[in-house]
Amino acid sequence: MLESLDSQFSILNLVDNEFVPPKSNSYLDDIGPATGATIARVPDSDGRDVDAAVAAAQRAFQAWSRTPAEARSRLLLGLADLIERDADELARIESLDNGKTVKLARAMDIPRAVANFRFFATAILHDSSEAHLTNDAALNYTLHQPIGVAGLISPWNLPLYLLTWKIAPAIASGNCCVAKPSELTPLTAHRLAELVVEAGIPPGVVNIVHGLGPKVGDALTAHPGVPIISFTGGTETGAAVMRNAGPLFKKVSLELGGKNPNVVFADADFDEAVATSMRSSFANQGEICLCGSRIFVERPIFDRFLEAFVAKTRALRVGDPSDDATDVGALVSSAHLAKVSGYLGIAREEGEVLCGGGRPANLPDRLRGGYYLEPAVVRSDRTDCRVMQEEIFGPVVTLTPFDDEAQVVAWANGTRYGLSASLWTRDLERAHRVAAALRAGTVWVNTWLLRDLRVPFGGVGDSGVGREGGRESLRFFTEAKNVCVKMGERR
Ligand code: NAP
Repeated sequence: MLESLDSQFSILNLVDNEFVPPKSNSYLDDIGPATGATIARVPDSDGRDVDAAVAAAQRAFQAWSRTPAEARSRLLLGLADLIERDADELARIESLDNGKTVKLARAMDIPRAVANFRFFATAILHDSSEAHLTNDAALNYTLHQPIGVAGLISPWNLPLYLLTWKIAPAIASGNCCVAKPSELTPLTAHRLAELVVEAGIPPGVVNIVHGLGPKVGDALTAHPGVPIISFTGGTETGAAVMRNAGPLFKKVSLELGGKNPNVVFADADFDEAVATSMRSSFANQGEICLCGSRIFVERPIFDRFLEAFVAKTRALRVGDPSDDATDVGALVSSAHLAKVSGYLGIAREEGEVLCGGGRPANLPDRLRGGYYLEPAVVRSDRTDCRVMQEEIFGPVVTLTPFDDEAQVVAWANGTRYGLSASLWTRDLERAHRVAAALRAGTVWVNTWLLRDLRVPFGGVGDSGVGREGGRESLRFFTEAKNVCVKMGERR
């Protein structure tokens, strides 16, 4: 596929294991963020394509939901092997489509897609169910049964990583699915579709419909034949999903935006806190929902931290995503670059931009049309301003000094979001105390983005509803049924 990419190359929808054009027969341009050039055409699908995909998934559900777990597991493991086989190609495609570095896609995105399938393929073999004995007179047990057709909607920042985080548990549990990737980054989803067919996953189990959120996503969330929706994306879009799904009483999981705090106490391992905070600020161009975009540093080490952090930020190499020497690639789109740059204008009014925020100098001619931005550090002593309250989702972080624990916990918790938080300290008691007090679905202590696929993952407040990951995903994608068996009188 990599060699075929150009402005005339069209990807197609996957319905019933057939590659089909959209009913509208029209396509959208897929722009490569590194150059600003069109690299492919994406189906501009609509409700008719969703109807066809849902019908295929409903047909497939009859057999797939009864396929033994061992057989489902073998098919998913085979798919994981194929992704691993093609990891290098997938990493390059992901980078071309999203603007992230090939280096990062190779180290994080693609291995995680492999792990998602392997994890859920084996989890279903080791899952167990509850039983309750009632007064020695009845035995209750719980069946966890697949639900039907799952609608899976994913964003552009971690395209294959998050798409497979949904497809794997959905189909491992015995559901069939209709997935809608972001139309900004559809290419690895298309390559995955080819691998689904090659792996021998039966027709209709995985269907992929490409296109715009307000058309395809809207049709999927409103479809009466789709009783379960797993959505990852922005908070406002999450509200639109709920408006469609609520009246139809769908089971819904929403993984939404964040404005995550990163709290550094004076007793922290300084070098490690600085190095990891660089990653948690700027990895993937800051386009990870878990990035720590608000850094709070205890006053005694604030100046030293600021100096080290700004120096390291200035030293980041921004540019060609295909070059392994590059640290920060391109933002995903010109619209997103404009949004992030707009926040830097606001930051100049609200605080002080200590470094970055401009276009990198000396970009080669080939990359002149790309969406690059020098990572920016903003000093802000106010916490109620827009740059500290609104999700920017780019390579922009704030630095704020704090004086005591109660103050920083209040500031850390003082946004509408509650996805994740990091804290840095060598004081064990404080680590546990502050971790318990932070309003977030995940708290990392002296680390960041250390993920175990068994743990519950999700947000509080405007960061989401529900939990996925491990058993939580298996429970989300199944319906619990209580079976109560009367045992009769003892003789
Ligand atoms: P987005 O605009 O909300 O889009 C997410 C997905 O929803 C895309 O596939 C999008 O399609 C689709 N969509 C748009 N409008 C829709 C509608 N009315 N109905 C149904 N689907 C619709 O988010 P994004 O800009 O792609 O991603 C960035 C956001 O995702 C950030 O807020 C980030 O924090 C969040 N995120 C959260 C997590 C988490 O785990 N909590 C992980 C990653 C990202 P189009 O692309 O065609 O618009």
